[in-house]
Amino acid sequence: MKNCTTFAGMHELSIAQSIVELAEEQAAKRRASGVEEVEIEIGRLAGVESQTLRFALQSAVKNTMLEKAHIVCHDIDGEGRCGDCDATFAMPELFTPCPRCGSYAVRLIRGKELRLKSIIINK
Ligand SMILES: [Zn+2]
Repeated sequence: MKNCTTFAGMHELSIAQSIVELAEEQAAKRRASGVEEVEIEIGRLAGVESQTLRFALQSAVKNTMLEKAHIVCHDIDGEGRCGDCDATFAMPELFTPCPRCGSYAVRLIRGKELRLKSIIINK
């Protein structure tokens, strides 16, 4: 029989585990009896497969305070700002040149998030 976790990438699995650990730590600090909901932001340019991470989270929460938690994932679109003309624009991938002036002096301002955004606990 195949183990479900073999479908998830190791990278995503270890990220999922650290998100769960972080949430548990936060919940323990607030003396929670359990976690009701967690919100996670996943940047589209964070180098993580969003679907895989969602799947990995489902197995990472087993036997933790997050086991019954509702997990809400937000995919964050990439956005960049041009260092030459100051335009801001959507970045579907890293190293997108500025659509206004063609410059590559672009700074990523959104889309690399990979974080626990909020957590709702049970007392
Ligand atoms: Zn520009």
